Amino acid sequence: MGEEVKRKFGFRKVCLNRDNYTCQKCKFEDSSGKKLEIHHVLPLIFDGCDDIKNMITLCFNCHRHAPNEPEKFKEYMDSELDGLTTSLLFVYKKLQDKGVITDTNYYKLKNSLKENDQNI
Ligand SMILES: [Zn+2]
Repeated sequence: MGEEVKRKFGFRKVCLNRDNYTCQKCKFEDSSGKKLEIHHVLPLIFDGCDDIKNMITLCFNCHRHAPNEPEKFKEYMDSELDGLTTSLLFVYKKLQDKGVITDTNYYKLKNSLKENDQNI
């Protein structure tokens, strides 16, 4: 065909197996794999491919906030906040912006998320 094949059938499973059906960021486990997604470190649109080295298992929440640039993705994986925490922070920030919660309460909520990060 002469055309580069970027998508490889069955690689989702290979990746899930390697990562033990566990989100590599927040360590959420799902043996069915239904709530887990495969993130391409170098996105397909930037010439990334379905190579096991370019793939990582993330849960829905962590995947939603995963940056597309490999450099930023590394930072994201190194940061202590997982996807669910990041989602909650967005919600808290919105509530603060709308004046639903006070600044003080916003910071309290934010800090409690950081303390409980490992348990979420
Ligand atoms: Zn996760």
